[in-house]
Amino acid sequence: MNIHEYQAKELLKGFGAPVAEGVAITEVSQAEAAARQLPGPLYVVKSQIHAGGRGKGKFTELGPDAKGGVRLAKTIDEVVANVRDMLGNTLVTKQTGDAGKQVNRLYIEDGADIDRELYLSLLVDRAVGRVAFVVSTEGGMDIEAVAEATPEKIINVAIDPEAGVTSADVAKLNEALQLTGQAASDGETLFPILYKAFTEKDMSLLEINPLIVMTDGRLRVLDAKVSFDGNALFRHDDVKALRDESEEDAKEIEASKYDLAYVALDGDIGCMVNGAGLAMATMDIIKLYGKEPANFLDVGGGANKEKVTAAFKIITADPAVKGILVNIFGGIMKCDIIAEGVVAAVKEVGLKVPLVVRLEGTNVEKGKAILNESGLAITAADDLDDAAKKIVAAVG
Ligand code: ADP
Ligand code: MG
Repeated sequence: MNIHEYQAKELLKGFGAPVAEGVAITEVSQAEAAARQLPGPLYVVKSQIHAGGRGKGKFTELGPDAKGGVRLAKTIDEVVANVRDMLGNTLVTKQTGDAGKQVNRLYIEDGADIDRELYLSLLVDRAVGRVAFVVSTEGGMDIEAVAEATPEKIINVAIDPEAGVTSADVAKLNEALQLTGQAASDGETLFPILYKAFTEKDMSLLEINPLIVMTDGRLRVLDAKVSFDGNALFRHDDVKALRDESEEDAKEIEASKYDLAYVALDGDIGCMVNGAGLAMATMDIIKLYGKEPANFLDVGGGANKEKVTAAFKIITADPAVKGILVNIFGGIMKCDIIAEGVVAAVKEVGLKVPLVVRLEGTNVEKGKAILNESGLAITAADDLDDAAKKIVAAVG
């Protein structure tokens, strides 16, 4: 689960991290009062969407010469003018896809006098099985480009879970970021704070890009992106309350109500599969035959008719879906249950696109009989290869 920058900063502030003062607004009429709460003389108006690259982003409605999604303002009037310009419009960044995201909230923040922009993130490093800091002096810009062109400028410091952030770790981080004097002593305080926030709140990513050294030598968290481990949300009601469903895919929200592992994708073949491995294989083989999957969907081992029906409805409700491939290996899940679910769902929502079904395993004969007797226009397939070929051919 992701949250907005202003929420991430509020959270980090609670742990004692240095963040700027700021006010989130959703209406133009709130802009002036928000700016008046800040010290000035520099203000920053920041689009709040669940995507990075906002600074270099473009507003669809404003033409190619308009400024991006993070704007500096030198007066309160300029703040208000920028708010009027940005609010309600669609921001396209490297991370939003071509459709962009509507900016429904802006964060008016105190402008900082920046000396250096650094990169700092915390993530779970699976290779070493530890939470690790990833840092670089080359912050503020595209860190992926830095990783590509100059990987030696990205430094990884994994933290021993027993010891936490040690003074040796702090020294390594300060050296990697070339922090001295006040900034180094700020780092000594900040690094353990970030590690504590990360572990206590079950984050999966905490990215600060940039972390800045200000002209007065102090550190400040200037941008913050936080993702939480969805599997741990049950123990963080405070985090759950930060969820902004308007930023999430409506189909994914619906799927989560039925405990379906569903991820919306860009292709046009809808997939209903049991087991994550088989779902991945199904997506791969669709690609092999030249098409793209519209989704990843694992209905799980213990799916019942209701769950299968819900899954089928989610797939058919997607206007991008031009054909559906049901690929089930009946192990714990029985083929006749899947067949009943498919038939019930088709009867309820109708079938406007080709449907190919491949069933194998427990109760496969019963399942096939249910499909045959349903009178529905379903194409049966013998194996995975056959199924993929048939649905790709049907979609054309
Ligand atoms: P994004 O990563 O989505 O583009 P950032 O929050 O990192 O958004 O902002 C982009 C750039 O804007 C930063 O690298 C920084 O140079 C500038 N910036 C952002 N917030 C402030 C601020 N409060 N004061 C001064 N400059 C800022
Ligand atoms: Mg940033």
